[in-house]
Amino acid sequence: MKALVTGGAGFIGSHLVDKLLQRGYQVRIIDNLSSGKIENISHVLNKVEFMKGDLKIKDDALKAVVNVDVIFHFAANPEVRVSTTDPEIHFNENVVATFNLLEAMRKKDVKRLVFASSSTVYGEPEEIPVDENAPIKPVSVYGASKAACENLIHAYTKLYGIKAIILRYANVVGPRLRHGIVHDMIIKIKQNNEELEVLGDGTQIRSYVYIDDAIEAILTAHEKTITDFEVYNVANEDWITVDEVVKTILNTLGTERRIIHKPVLHGVGWPGDVKKIALKIDKLKNLGWKPKMNSKEAIKNTTKALIKELGLP
Ligand code: NAD
Repeated sequence: MKALVTGGAGFIGSHLVDKLLQRGYQVRIIDNLSSGKIENISHVLNKVEFMKGDLKIKDDALKAVVNVDVIFHFAANPEVRVSTTDPEIHFNENVVATFNLLEAMRKKDVKRLVFASSSTVYGEPEEIPVDENAPIKPVSVYGASKAACENLIHAYTKLYGIKAIILRYANVVGPRLRHGIVHDMIIKIKQNNEELEVLGDGTQIRSYVYIDDAIEAILTAHEKTITDFEVYNVANEDWITVDEVVKTILNTLGTERRIIHKPVLHGVGWPGDVKKIALKIDKLKNLGWKPKMNSKEAIKNTTKALIKELGLP
């Protein structure tokens, strides 16, 4: 099988490339290197076809999909916070890029797609955890852009015979991560010996899934789904507060800081941030997938990996 990984030089995409190669796939990557890095794929550059290109450019999307059997669409701007201050970025990087990719698939007759969506499509559910049938009510432009992509993909499965899988991720963490709470906390701890600013009141609830489990989820869903369109939550079986995440990072680093909470609105970190989100994962578990690491272990292992990568003491 020949696979195209969009965003293949990014965090999740590069780990997926490693796994696809191990499984014997031929791999092409398209990445504009906006947040991704060549270092993430330098160890496999002689085994993959790397195309520096931008999915916002129709011609790049068309070239990227030629002769591929399946597309893993992971290119996006993953920074939820940016979508509040600059919504157009997410409209372009997520919606326009996904539309161009779907059009390229239609024109070049590519029939299989796996899309990296997000738990942010659920917004602020009244009760957690939510299953895949919960209402789609995003409260960030990022979440809205992912929901728009999901809907476009659904229409393309109905109209053009494309088979698609939507993976709604909670927080994915692991080596090569360069955004989100674990990365940001480590940088802040390095910069200030006394205080540590934490966005929100610290009681926000999230689930964290380790990268190896997240990649296994992609392949399980891809290899075992037989229907034309299926949505799966990808998260952990547990969930923890932001304060617990911070404590785990500090304990792993063997250091202490005075915590300064910076809440806005109802205690979240920024407008568009969600106070509590956790996902039911029974649907994917029924296909045989199960996370091997819980949320705290995922945070701990990611902290250890990032210390090495970022060259911290
Ligand atoms: P990342 O920033 O490391 O990877 C995204 C990659 O896409 C980068 O390599 C970037 O250079 C590339 N890219 C961005 N715009 C592009 C464009 N227009 N054309 C070509 N390449 C482009 O982020 P990540 O954490 O690996 O996220 C991967 C996917 O998973 C994203 O779609 C993200 O929204 C989704 N997701 C991630 C998480 C998470 O916790 N990391 C959670 C939910 C969903």
